[in-house]
Amino acid sequence: MSASQSKINLLDLDHRGLREFFASIGEKPFRAEQVLKWIYHHGVTEFAAMTNLSQALRARLPEIACVELPRVLREQRSADGTVKWLFGLPGGNAIETVFIPEPNRGTLCVSSQVGCALNCTFCSTATQGFNRNLGCGEIIGQVWLAAQRLGHQRNGRRLITNVVMMGMGEPMLNFDAVVGAMSLMRDDLGFGLASKRVTLSTAGFVPGIDRLRETLDVALAVSLHAPVDAIRDQLVPLNRKYPIAELLAACRRYVAGRRKRQVTFEYTLIDGVNDQPEHARKLVKLLRTVPSKLNLIPFNPFPGTEYRCSPPERIDAFQRIAMQGGLVATVRRTRGEDIDAACGQLVGKVMDRTRRQQRHLQKLAIEPAEALR
Ligand code: SAH
Repeated sequence: MSASQSKINLLDLDHRGLREFFASIGEKPFRAEQVLKWIYHHGVTEFAAMTNLSQALRARLPEIACVELPRVLREQRSADGTVKWLFGLPGGNAIETVFIPEPNRGTLCVSSQVGCALNCTFCSTATQGFNRNLGCGEIIGQVWLAAQRLGHQRNGRRLITNVVMMGMGEPMLNFDAVVGAMSLMRDDLGFGLASKRVTLSTAGFVPGIDRLRETLDVALAVSLHAPVDAIRDQLVPLNRKYPIAELLAACRRYVAGRRKRQVTFEYTLIDGVNDQPEHARKLVKLLRTVPSKLNLIPFNPFPGTEYRCSPPERIDAFQRIAMQGGLVATVRRTRGEDIDAACGQLVGKVMDRTRRQQRHLQKLAIEPAEALR
């Protein structure tokens, strides 16, 4: 065990947690604000350099606390400007994080777990199995490292304008760490992002949607992918536990009473599976009942999959029917294909899979037989 493992990693604490930490060691809680600014505004992780802390505190902190980040194992830059990092974690696991620059914004796609336990049949992260949840510090650490590597400046060149929890893992199944990290993304003393610029994407874990609504103001995206349970059961096995009607009811609760709030529905178009005109028409009927927008994602193939991407004309036709039906529907342009950075292509390095996956699901009271194919 390394010495730092017995110390508290300050990246694991959100604003409130940090205030409690300083109070618990007999310091004034406002030390939290000073340290947050050093870490997230100035990118400083050495206590010795935090010059507005007292000499005594600067000397004491390294003995009880640390600021420990994932290690940068690889950085790949795509011809289209997309950047993908492989971040190493203690114990030999690794996760992936992607930055997608667009003319008016820069979106960072962040992982929440090492692997994923949900076994969606069209996602390559699923083929890796599940190892463990990421800690809050490992989640916010991805944002910290990406900001540093890109030259993001809090009060100057703000390259990261949006963060989406759409990397490896199901964020709702790692609720506390994800919410802690997202609150640091939102906090003025953290990354200072507005609520609509921090998005949690879920495969449809209904209790999590209700809990999130009561916990933190962020945008919600839901991976829908099918307008009927028979198809969704095949693509997203979690649907057998939380079918479409229950999922959409939770989405309506999420937006209820909040002006301008809407849910983004992600819909991956797979050749011959969910991309027919009748599917689009059914989707229109369903989504009319939820303030929402529809994000169509052309399926990204990966080694070993039998699914194919829908042909462009069918994607166009699907979008047209959705729009004629009154939905706001966009097609997500595939980015970073040359470095395998597109949706559903993030794999990282996941050790020791099946047993942990089963245990994790059992803890959540999801029968493996139900959630796994
Ligand atoms: N587990 C969360 C976060 C992952 S988000 C969720 O399911 O929402 C990643 C998005 O990419 C999801 O909408 C997912 O369904 C989609 N996706 C996964 N594999 C894909 C693939 N091969 N091609 C296109 N989209 C994919």
